Order: sequence, then C-alpha cells, then structure tokens
Amino acid sequence: MKEIQKLFPSMDGNDVQREELLSYFKTILTEIDELKDPDKLTLGEMPDYTEDYYNRVIQKAAIPEAGVPMEKVVQQLLTLVEGHRYVNRNYVANAAPLPNIASIIGNLVMVLVNGNNLWDVEGPAAATAEVEVTAMLSKLIGYDENISAGYTTWGGQGAVFNSLRLAIARYAPSSNQKGIPQNLYCFCSELSHYSLYKSVEASGLGVENLIRVKANADHSMNLEDLQEKIEQVIANGGVPLYILATMGTTDTFGVDDIKGIKSIADDVEHTYGTYPIYIHADSAMGGMYTFFNHYNFESNPLQFEEDVMEVLKSYQKKFEQIKLADSMVFDFHKLGQTPYITSLFLIKNRENLKYVDLDAEETPYVGNRGYGSYHTGYTLECSRMGSALSIYASLLAFGIEGYQELLANYIRVNLKFRETLTKEISNVAVTNDVSPITTFRFYPGKNKWDEELNGRLTVEEVTENNQFNDDLAEILGIDRDTVFYGNTRKQRLVDTTNGNNRISLYAHKFFAISPYSTVEEVVRYVGFLKEHLEFFMKTRSGEHLLVKS
Ligand SMILES: *Cc1c(COP(=O)(O)O)cnc(C)c1O
Repeated sequence: MKEIQKLFPSMDGNDVQREELLSYFKTILTEIDELKDPDKLTLGEMPDYTEDYYNRVIQKAAIPEAGVPMEKVVQQLLTLVEGHRYVNRNYVANAAPLPNIASIIGNLVMVLVNGNNLWDVEGPAAATAEVEVTAMLSKLIGYDENISAGYTTWGGQGAVFNSLRLAIARYAPSSNQKGIPQNLYCFCSELSHYSLYKSVEASGLGVENLIRVKANADHSMNLEDLQEKIEQVIANGGVPLYILATMGTTDTFGVDDIKGIKSIADDVEHTYGTYPIYIHADSAMGGMYTFFNHYNFESNPLQFEEDVMEVLKSYQKKFEQIKLADSMVFDFHKLGQTPYITSLFLIKNRENLKYVDLDAEETPYVGNRGYGSYHTGYTLECSRMGSALSIYASLLAFGIEGYQELLANYIRVNLKFRETLTKEISNVAVTNDVSPITTFRFYPGKNKWDEELNGRLTVEEVTENNQFNDDLAEILGIDRDTVFYGNTRKQRLVDTTNGNNRISLYAHKFFAISPYSTVEEVVRYVGFLKEHLEFFMKTRSGEHLLVKS
C-alpha cells in the first residue's frame, strides 16, 4: 500500500511530497512554454491527422498492466499537448478563452480540495464562492441579491435547458409527476444558438413547438414577428411558455431588445389573460458587457476612445435591461477568459427553484442532516464541480475595471480590423455591426452586399457568392497554423428575386479574443487575408480549384 499512497498528495503536508507535486507542475509548465511560438497558433507540430488517425488510437489503446512512473505519465500528457491550438494573437476564430492566471489558480484550488458543490458539508469552499459570485453578479446586473439565486452549470446550453425546465415546472407544477403538457410553445430568434433546439428535444416539448422569429438587419429579434407568432399560437389554443432573448448572437453579436420583448409578454398576458411568459436572456456570448452597466461615459475614467465608447454606450442601454429577464447566464469561459466550464446560471427569483427541487425523502445520501445549509437538490447534476472558485478568483483579480479594459479592447481591435479590411480589399463587405465579432464576405467581382441584403439577387447568384466564400474558407483553413479565422454558414437569411424561401449567407468571422490581439496586430491579420484571397482568385480562374500544397 505504501507504493499506492505515493500516488496521492500527502496526509500531513510534508515538504517532500509537496516538492514532488511541484516538480510535475514545473515540468508541465516549462515544457508547454517551450512549445509556445507567438508566430504560430499551435504548441509544437500538429499530429498527422490521417483518415485512420483515431482508428490507430483505438487499436493502440490499452491500460498498462502495472502503473507507469509519474515522469512517464507527465510525458504522455505532454505528447497529447503537441500541436494543440493555443489561444495567442493568431487565434481569431471563436470565443475560445485563454484562461487567466487567477482562474487557473482558482481551478487548481478547486481540484486540490475537491469539494462537491452539491452540498456545503462536502464542498464548503465552492458553496461560499457560488453564493458570493451569485450576489456579486446579481448586484452588477440589477437583480435583487436577496431574492436571486445562481449556480454553476454545464455551459450556456445548460443554462438554457435549466431555464426551460424552470419555465415548464412553474407553469405546470404537476408536470414533474404527470409529464409535460403538449400545448406549450417556445420562441427564439432564427439566429439564436441551437441550445434551445436541443432543449425542446430533450425536455420532450418537441421541436415542432419551437417557433423561430425573424431577425432584423442588426441580427436582433423582430418584435412584430414575435408578437404575431405568439398571437397565432394563442389563436390555435396553444400556450406561449417561454421566450429566449439572445444577448449577443454567437456569430454576429446581435442583441435582442429585451425591454421590447418583456413589454410584448406583459401585453399578451393582459390582453389574453394568459400565464406570464418566462424569459431567459441567453447572454452566454454578451453577458460580460453588463460590466459596463455602471460605467460613467461622461467622466470616462478609463479614457476609452470616442468610437469605442459609442459602442459601449449602446451596449449599456441594451444590457441594463437584462434585469427584466427571469434568468440569464454568465459564460465566463467565453469573453471572461476562464477555463471550461465556468458558466453561472442566474435566476431572478429563487422561489422558482421550489418547483424543481427534490423532496428531502428523495435525497437520502446528502443534504438531509441537521448540519449543512446549502444543498443544491434543484440542479440536474448530482455531484458538481466547484467552478465558482475560478469565477471568483477572476472577479477578484480583474475587478470591474480590469474586465472593462479587456472587453473594450475587443471592440477597439474590431474597429481597427474593419477599417483596415475595407481599406485594403475592395471586393469585401462587412456584414454585421461593430462588436467583438466582425463577419465579412468576399465577392468574385464587385461588392454585391447591398443587393444581397435587400433581396435583389437571384438564388443562383447568392449561391455562387456563398460557394466563393466557402472555397476561400478552405484555403484560409489550410494555413490556420499562421492565423486562424472562423466562418459561419448562417450569417443571416436573405430574400432572393426568384426563390420562395430565404437563404443563408456564408461569412468569414474575425473574433479576436486573446489579450495579445491588439490594434498593432491588425495589419498582419488583414495581410494574411489579402495574400490568400489573391492566391485564391488567381488559382480559381482555372477550371478547378488548386489546393495549395
Ligand atoms: C456559446 C453559446 C451558447 C452555448 O454555451 P456553452 O457554454 O458552449 O454551452 C448558448 N448561447 C449562445 C448565444 C452562445 O453564444
């Protein structure tokens, strides 16, 4: 047993065992650092992803008969890291975080004491941190911290599922016993994340009961269409149960007018005498911008530039209203730059949790003793990781101002990117408003954005432009080791002159998330695009596409 004990941290805190653990940390940190290269996206060389790559992994896999030495374990782990994408200045594809140091330490503490966030007796550190960050962020967004509640969960998607579950249980408290009613309907923007789609599948409501609302030119939900579709549901005997207000669409950062949505929900309730519609703000992407809710743009203490301020000011107006939602989410592992998964689901009124909490009788193992007063029997998880510790550490280390600096830089870099892109390249159109994301689209000839947006092209013409951008994305992807751009096949839907249905537009995506992506880097980003576009245009004139070797 002595040998087995060596695989564990010490019982008494002795120096020898601590030094051993530290030496592994040191090896890992050192070797990962050695793989870093600011001119590349990856840590070392990417493995050769041949078609049978995973097959070979499967064939080779076997649990060693006797354990291997720790040094070897460390080396094997480092082999997995080889070729890993690393969010440095060359990563401009998606909201992938580079976990900040405080959050890494918070995560380490979480692992070292390994509390179970299910019950404070089993995990007091995470329980207190969870209560504390819930109160901190409630105060920030304007929920009353004395009646709000919050818990960390499985991502922004988990928050959507949790909120839908609350909405169903609140409307139909007997549904936990009898199953859910069949006439409940959910509404979301056609550009919303697929989280709600999955949730209506998994909850048993069914995808047919998910109504998609048209988006406006600025990618926010069209409120007239929302109202019309709610009234249609009522006219057909259905119950409007739930509206998902997207606060920052995943691809284009469109922000729904939550005040307008709330007022429609209230009107419907009064006019038709229906049950209050549950509103969840899907703020997985945009929620961090509530950090400007109390920023004074008059005195501008952080001295932001005029054009940056203008965007932030418009966000303040929109995100101040998030308090109208019944629940919302902070995905720190997106713009908050913390490790996966660090999502806090925030509920305006903790009373709502009573509909989904377990009876004490159903939880014989935990939470039913005289000791301990924090038992999260209402979560879908049983054992829970204490990821509130990471969030807590980040909030302390950054403070409101630190996050404001970080979030403002995303806007600053995007402004510069847009300016440089359109100056350097003529056949390009920027297709969303200034935000942490820039979507853009190239054309084989003249810039046709205006015609496309206003439905003046044929299906064939739009399809050709889509194909052009799709092929170019392949070319850009080959060199993703140099600069890694994102792309989307559903930037928005547009009408055509000859089609019955609106069609999706493809676009490239610039999402500069790294703190090392500064305005100085923008020339390089655009240069990369220009070079690849020119190559693509040249090779394309032939019969078929040449792929750069
Ligand atoms: C990313 C995202 C989600 C999903 O969040 P996860 O944390 O990845 O589960 C949901 N909604 C929106 C708007 C998002 O951008």
